[in-house]
Amino acid sequence: MTSKIRTLPKLLAHAVLCVTLSFGMLASGSMRTAFAADCPGHPDALGTSRTLVVDPREHPRIGTMQYPETLPLRDHEVVLSFDDGPLPRNSDRILAILAAQCIKANFFLVGEMAKSFPEGVRKLRDAGHTIGTHTQTHPLTMNKMPIERAKAEIDDGIASVKAALGADADKSLAPFFRIPGLLRADAVEDYLASRGIQVWSADFPADDWRHISSSRVYDLAIQRIEAKGKGILLLHDIQARTVAALPRILATLKARGYHIVHVVPATPDRPATPTEPQQWQLHPRSENVAISHWPVIPNFVSTNADQLAAPAFSYFDASGAKLLLFPLPKTAPWPRDWPVPVADTASTLAIPARSVFELPELPRLSVESFALLAPGPARMTVTESKPERAVTTVGTSHFEHAIRGKFRSGHGKRLVVSHHGGRGTMVAHGRSNAARRRSGPARHLAQVRKRSA
Ligand SMILES: [Zn+2]
Repeated sequence: MTSKIRTLPKLLAHAVLCVTLSFGMLASGSMRTAFAADCPGHPDALGTSRTLVVDPREHPRIGTMQYPETLPLRDHEVVLSFDDGPLPRNSDRILAILAAQCIKANFFLVGEMAKSFPEGVRKLRDAGHTIGTHTQTHPLTMNKMPIERAKAEIDDGIASVKAALGADADKSLAPFFRIPGLLRADAVEDYLASRGIQVWSADFPADDWRHISSSRVYDLAIQRIEAKGKGILLLHDIQARTVAALPRILATLKARGYHIVHVVPATPDRPATPTEPQQWQLHPRSENVAISHWPVIPNFVSTNADQLAAPAFSYFDASGAKLLLFPLPKTAPWPRDWPVPVADTASTLAIPARSVFELPELPRLSVESFALLAPGPARMTVTESKPERAVTTVGTSHFEHAIRGKFRSGHGKRLVVSHHGGRGTMVAHGRSNAARRRSGPARHLAQVRKRSA
């Protein structure tokens, strides 16, 4: 009797387990089928699990690297975002990788790149990806430039991408924008909001603009995604190391049960996906562990709700910033019970410890970057910031290191780069290693011109 009484719950439990497993297998099986059906010839594709429609006017700023809100993702959902393109050689390879996995991603294009490679913009559109913009010339000074100049950067970038898209530009271009280097400013954000444009920060970078290996990019991407569990991954489709890392990143995401979400803007015909306010917070009210980085020389006012920190991208300057590389050390450089819940950071962001920013891999100047910045014959000022200021040091900047290709453009032209700085002039031809090694203050200005190979 006693044994029967004991056995019955066991049998019930077993039955429940079997039914649960069956449903689980059916569910995952049907999900796989759906993905495979969406991806002919690639039955093991990661796929795009859903499309999220967002209204930029309701949520004008997203990404927990800088803002209290981020996309309303479920656990194990990741949005792939790619900046700085298009650059045919690498962007095309990124597109092929995404196509093979039937993944739709979000791109942020630079106007000058769109002007130089308009076909690359149309390829993105034709592949069904979302196209946002990222200024005209990728200045790393938007946090301090006059607002009229910032507006021109934004407007010109949009105009250049629209020109590349052609007739249906208004329909194909999303009102999504990412500030170069994430170097935000109130006036810039206000202007974008007034135009109904959503500012995208990110939830985790993979440092793929720095001079690190592709396996390091892979490690950082996976570690940071795992640490937060969901969010927007910031990558650069112009980078060879990103091309090399992406297949492994996607394979690992699939193996670990992650799903890719594609984000599109709401339109009159396409209403925003219904959400609750708390879904726009990464971990509402429960988890307080800070993963993102802030600059060691913060130019923000932590007591002002409107003055969030300038972001992590200053940490590619080895002179003033240090980057904490994951995994986390056993002894955290900040208090483990980080006092600021993500949901409330707007009013109380803390200034991080100097030791948070460790940068063991020193970035070097890439002269190719300048060549690709301005493919046209015109002389172009890349930036006017002063190298001694850590927050926006030029030679180790995001974009210069982000673009590290060969000296040949997509049209077979050889590009020649000259750098003029306060203490001298550097001229680099072809693949000059000496020039590539050159660093220091002589990099205020990039003069770029094309000549035939
Ligand atoms: Zn960028």
